[in-house]
Order: sequence, then C-alpha cells, then structure tokens
Amino acid sequence: MERLTEWYDNGISEGVLVKEKRGEKEIKVLFEEIDDGYIEMCALKAYEDTGLDPEQIRQIDRLYAEKCREVAKLRQRDTPVKVKPIGINHSIGGRVGVCPKCDVIVCDYMDRFCRECGCRLEWGSWEEWEELT
Ligand SMILES: [Zn+2]
Repeated sequence: MERLTEWYDNGISEGVLVKEKRGEKEIKVLFEEIDDGYIEMCALKAYEDTGLDPEQIRQIDRLYAEKCREVAKLRQRDTPVKVKPIGINHSIGGRVGVCPKCDVIVCDYMDRFCRECGCRLEWGSWEEWEELT
C-alpha cells in the first residue's frame, strides 16, 4: 500500500505531510500541531510507520488477547490456595490434605503444586495444622 504520510521539519515549521488527490493532481498538505486533524494524521503516520497491513494488525491483536488470557489463567493457577487438612502422616513426618480446587489428596513433602489441577498450594504453619487436625 502506498504511504500517505511523512514527517516534515524545515526548522521553521514541522508536522505531518499528507498526500492528497485533488482532481488529477496529487498535492501534499502539512498538518501542524495547531491544525484540525493533526492528531489523526499523527495516528495515521504512526500506523504507516509500523509497516503492517490491517490484517496483520488484527492478527497481532488476536494473539495479544490470547496471550493475555493465558497469563490471567497462569496467574490464577499461581495464586496459592489453602490446603484442607486431613492429618499428619507420622511415619513419613508430613502433612496430608486435600486440594480445595479439585479434591485430590496432597502431601506437603511432595506437593508445592497440585498434581491434578496445577494450582499452587499453601500449607500454613505446623502449629496451625496441628490445631486443625
Ligand atoms: Zn488441585
């Protein structure tokens, strides 16, 4: 696609120079900061500076939204959830509980994350655990 804008600066005035068709002629119109449409022409120039076409911009937007959803999912998974206590296994010296998200049995000596749903587990202190069981 033909580029329509370029930056103009002659030391006295500066702005976005925009190609326009007037009948058969093509002219260049300078949009300076004080002119109506300056902000829009700056946006058009910024878009042209990317070198991307509209479909590429839409594809980047879709990928960005997809990555944001993945990050939100990982953040949620990485937020610690408190294990529901079952008891203490004295033969191995470890605490045993249940993952509050998926009800899988977990052990503190093995599981910082749930083996089933992958969420981060919070075990609390031993004293707290002994009071609850
Ligand atoms: Zn789980």
